[in-house]
Amino acid sequence: MKIGIIGLQGAVSEHLEATKRAMQKLGIESEVVWVDSPEQLERVDGIIIPGGESTTIGKLMLRTGLFERVKQLAAGGTPILGTCAGLIVLAKRGDEQVMRTEQPLLGLMDISVIRNAFGRQRESFEVDLEIPALGERFYSAVFIRAPAVEEVWGDAQILAKFQGKIVAVQQGKLLAVAFHPELTPDTRLHEYFLQMCQR
Ligand code: GLN
Repeated sequence: MKIGIIGLQGAVSEHLEATKRAMQKLGIESEVVWVDSPEQLERVDGIIIPGGESTTIGKLMLRTGLFERVKQLAAGGTPILGTCAGLIVLAKRGDEQVMRTEQPLLGLMDISVIRNAFGRQRESFEVDLEIPALGERFYSAVFIRAPAVEEVWGDAQILAKFQGKIVAVQQGKLLAVAFHPELTPDTRLHEYFLQMCQR
C-alpha cells in the first residue's frame, strides 16, 4: 500500500510517523511518501491532508497542481483523510472567514465549516472523545485553533461531537477530523483510515 501525505505546510512529518506506526500495527506492507508535486501521487492508495494553515495549504495546492490532481483522484475513489486545516480544505462550504479570504476549497465533502470554532483564547486543548467507529475506549484528541463542522448533508455521517459541535465526519471514502490524530500515541484513527484504503 502507498499513502501520500500532502507536504506543503503544517504537521507533515508527524503524520508520516503516525501513518508508519499504524501500518506496523496492522502489519501492512507499505510506503508513505511526502508529496509536494502531482507526480508523487502516482498509484497512491490514500491521501492525507494535514493540519496547518488552511489558506496557505489551499493556495499552495493550487500553485503546485496538487489541487486538481487530488480532486481527480477523489472522483476516482481514492480515500482522503483531512485533519484540522485539512478538514477545512475538504469542505464544500465555509464560514464568513473562509469567504472573506477567498481560500480555495476542494469542495469534496458535504459539510460546512467554521474556522477557529473554539475561540482564540482557547488555542489548544486535549479532551477525551467518544468515537464509536474507533471502539469503546475514549479517544484522547488534541485540538489546536481547531475548526468545527457546522452542518452535514447528503451522505456525510457524523462520527463524533464535542460540546455539541461536530468534530469528525465520514462520507464514503472521505474522512475529516477537527483534531490532530498525528500528535498522540493512539494510532486508531490512522488505522481506521488505512483500513478504508485497503478495500
Ligand atoms: N486555524 C487553522 C485554519 O483555519 C487550522 C489549525 C490547525 O490546522 N491546527 O486553517
